[in-house]
Amino acid sequence: MENMELMKPDTKSRILLDEIDTSAIPPMEEPQRQYYYMAKCREIIKERELEYGRHLNANVTTFGCQMNAKDSEKLRGILEEIGYQQTESEEADLVLYNTCTVRENANLKVYGHLGLLSNLKKKNPNMIIGLCGCMMQEPDVVEKLRKSYRFVNLVFGTHNIYKFAELLYEVLERQQRAEQMQQSPAKTDMVIDIWKDTDQIVEDLPADRTYSFKCGVNIMYGCNNFCTYCIVPYVRGRERSRRPEDILCEVERLARDGVKEVMLLGQNVNSYGKTLRKQFSSDDSAQNTASAGTEEPVSFAELLQMVERVPGIERIRFMTSHPKDLSDELIDVMKHSKKICNHLHLPLQSGSSRILKKMNRRYTKEQYLELAAKLRREIPDLSITTDIIVGFPGETEEDFQETLDVVRQVRYDSAFTFIYSKRTGTPAAAMEDQVPEDVVKDRFNRLLALVQTISQEMAMKVEGQTLPVLVESINDHDDTLVTGRLSNNLLVHFPGAQELIGQIVNVHLTECKGFYYMGEMAS
Ligand code: SF4
Repeated sequence: MENMELMKPDTKSRILLDEIDTSAIPPMEEPQRQYYYMAKCREIIKERELEYGRHLNANVTTFGCQMNAKDSEKLRGILEEIGYQQTESEEADLVLYNTCTVRENANLKVYGHLGLLSNLKKKNPNMIIGLCGCMMQEPDVVEKLRKSYRFVNLVFGTHNIYKFAELLYEVLERQQRAEQMQQSPAKTDMVIDIWKDTDQIVEDLPADRTYSFKCGVNIMYGCNNFCTYCIVPYVRGRERSRRPEDILCEVERLARDGVKEVMLLGQNVNSYGKTLRKQFSSDDSAQNTASAGTEEPVSFAELLQMVERVPGIERIRFMTSHPKDLSDELIDVMKHSKKICNHLHLPLQSGSSRILKKMNRRYTKEQYLELAAKLRREIPDLSITTDIIVGFPGETEEDFQETLDVVRQVRYDSAFTFIYSKRTGTPAAAMEDQVPEDVVKDRFNRLLALVQTISQEMAMKVEGQTLPVLVESINDHDDTLVTGRLSNNLLVHFPGAQELIGQIVNVHLTECKGFYYMGEMAS
């Protein structure tokens, strides 16, 4: 199968399954190999459709963050290509949990769900149960599944999500073989494929987008920062950036499909590009992954400028920015951009330099404050939001006061506040001076009260103004209203109908309700 000949003309990147010779040996190169397995899976699914007299359906349930949500779009895209119809119900022919492991109790939730699935599988022995994502990168989890959850069919991790079709084919084939030998398909062995790490990035696989008008775009994977409370670097591997040309190609394709807003995603977007030269010079052989052509690393600020030039894209957001890597170049690009949204999420985590050091955040309170002041000076109407952890091991009342001080000085437009939760496998979990629960709760409440007071004052700033809003949905509680977002990320509700969804319209902000606005569309 020759890749270029089988590209769909509208996208120049996708491969036509119908033209794949499934009797040939599987191609070695990616993504051709995965399209080959999608075609093989589709043959089996078609047989099952005939046998059952109905379409097969699949449920992909996502736990965790935006990176997982993005991965799930890819998984759903592959399933759709194979012939599954999406369903919200877990009473499905295939259920795939894309798991998160940032918090310890996230794992318990997944085991709870699995108990329910085992009952459903008794009714439908051909049901396929799969688990993927961050939790699967932990060896003890896989061991537990292997021993106590033998009805699970498929387990894979974060580094080989692109191989989903190939792994699913193995499951389907095992089930077929069991049937031929008149054994129960429910008793087939689990397919397990976990990689410790990878430097491979496979492009051009299908994706099923959640929204037609906005879309997340991965610009990098993994993280090199090793904040001491965070499990991400252990389960998502080392930082690696996608090639700028691949990112641009995806953004252009999205714009052609009607997407107006892109969210560039990475654990630390500010360090985008740092690994490009190394990645691409060391691995030119990896097909359709990193290859030759990128001589110089491209910075995140430069990437933003490239994305800005894509016609049709009207709004650009990005997440997440590590303060230690936020450059003057980026501030300058944001300042002069017409498309980059007026919002920066800049995680603080703690206002105490002593605690920041224990967290391995690699900035001090003073450096953070200097950066925030520079941002406020250069981009006066920028909305700054943050994440704050309360009760990190060893945090004293004095440390906590430093956090409150930063909140008062920066005046965040909004903040996600978290009670520190011990995550086994991270250095912080082994730290001795864990803070008592009642003390943490008291600090958390004081922080929340301050954050909320300031957020409400900040939100008031645009009352009475008329500003562009990207309409996202019909209002959840009142279907005569639509809900959209300002560039600064505040929600706005105003009278409107379905046809406005996906449009950017000017809205007069009549009333601030604390954390959101009521408005009227401007004529
Ligand atoms: S920057 Fe820190 S908190 Fe964010 S993913 Fe990396 S290690 Fe975790």
